[in-house]
Amino acid sequence: MEVNKIYPYLCKHGSCLKRAEFTFTDVEITETETKDGLIKEEPRTITLGHSCEDHVEDVRKLFEEIFTEGKKNNLNKNNPKSKENKV
Ligand SMILES: [Zn+2]
Repeated sequence: MEVNKIYPYLCKHGSCLKRAEFTFTDVEITETETKDGLIKEEPRTITLGHSCEDHVEDVRKLFEEIFTEGKKNNLNKNNPKSKENKV
């Protein structure tokens, strides 16, 4: 028999280290190439983080900011032609 201690998820808000009550997840599309050379898109659920009862809104905003910024950067990287089209 094995006994393992379970570590609870903690709130992501600043120095608040309360036990988290909420989980923030998002769906990410991953592209994999099949043997036929086709691109297959597969949705994958990713966990962004957790928050306690008091900080749901704060943590949600935090992740929204990080996430929308990240998506913008990715778009720019993936579409270098978008600039050329505008000119
Ligand atoms: Zn908190």
